[in-house]
Amino acid sequence: MLEIKQVRVLGDNYAYLLHEPQTGATAAVDPGDAEPVLAAAEAMGWRIGTVLITHHHADHIGGAAAIKAACDGCRVVAPAADLHRIPDVDVAVADGDTVDLGETHAVVFEVPGHTAGHVAYWFMADDALFSGDTLFALGCGRLFEGTAEQMWRSLSRLRALPDETMVYCGHEYTAQNARFALSLTPDDDALKARADEVAAATVAKRPTVPSPLALEKATNPFLRADDPELAARLGLAGADPETVFAEIRRRKDVF
Ligand code: ZN
Ligand code: FE
Repeated sequence: MLEIKQVRVLGDNYAYLLHEPQTGATAAVDPGDAEPVLAAAEAMGWRIGTVLITHHHADHIGGAAAIKAACDGCRVVAPAADLHRIPDVDVAVADGDTVDLGETHAVVFEVPGHTAGHVAYWFMADDALFSGDTLFALGCGRLFEGTAEQMWRSLSRLRALPDETMVYCGHEYTAQNARFALSLTPDDDALKARADEVAAATVAKRPTVPSPLALEKATNPFLRADDPELAARLGLAGADPETVFAEIRRRKDVF
């Protein structure tokens, strides 16, 4: 079973170290900054052999070159669609590809919306999804390069993964996302309970990430654009999920 270590970088970003204990293979996901990720690997006695990039934004790739330089033979894995704007990529991946990490492997999902080339990495045997800035705890990424239709399709694909999947996203945005979600459905008991937990974790400076996909399905408004109750609540009874999703995203952008 994959050992996963969360590394907070650049303020509110999360990078991750993944260690496959049979072979010792270690990967760093979205190292926005090299120093804290290398320090965390060193503290664990792990040697980074792979960097997995979800998308081209600087806060996700900023440390990749320095990690590659510091770790002999380290390969950088990144979306094929973004090769022109991510430096030093060794392995370009597209939808349905697999990436081996020792005895385990990830399946690549192309999930456009936040950026055109965004991918997610799903370690099926380990119930771990690295969702970058596509799916956040209680939220989703802004639509910088994609349409609401694309993002809804991307999120719907991730939502179809098993309930027990743990979602490791790219930022600690959960407290803010909880406030927004409550503005849509203030009487939702499941959401209220989660928002209380998030608030307590935030005060205690504990991470609210990862979260189980089942909890996201139940409480993340961006995964509920096809829920007729939520649509009605937004004054969009009978509208298609793409329209409902676009409205939720629009409201979040001005929240
Ligand atoms: Zn981003
Ligand atoms: Fe980001």
